[in-house]
Amino acid sequence: MNGDHEHGGFVIPLDYVDPAGRAVDHQLLGDFVGAAVAGCPSCRDALLTFVAEDPPTAARLVELACIATREALGGLPATMTEEAAGGPVGLEFRRLAGVGVAGGNDAMFDACGRLDSEQRRAAADTAAGILIAQLRSDLTR
Ligand SMILES: [Zn+2]
Repeated sequence: MNGDHEHGGFVIPLDYVDPAGRAVDHQLLGDFVGAAVAGCPSCRDALLTFVAEDPPTAARLVELACIATREALGGLPATMTEEAAGGPVGLEFRRLAGVGVAGGNDAMFDACGRLDSEQRRAAADTAAGILIAQLRSDLTR
């Protein structure tokens, strides 16, 4: 990605199906998650900028983080979905996850599209951290 090194992309598992009609950039998403899983901060940071500029892809990342958490915990804790709950999870992510819980996936994708790219970057950054933590615990289970 940076020209001086390479690492594998991450193949999004096939049972993570796409919401219909959304132009999610799977190549970008796979590369970004791959860089995050590989623990490569320079690629992760560079690709995060692209994800932040691409609302459906950022929304998809938030969705994947929610799905992974739901699978691991059987639901989404309030600290991931409620602004007032406090805790370490970023506010932008919590807002989007809360919209998704209350109004469904379409509402969450719409809300993500209305964020500015800085807010979207923060939400995607948080989502990546959550997703990678869940993927890692899957791998070691
Ligand atoms: Zn890298």
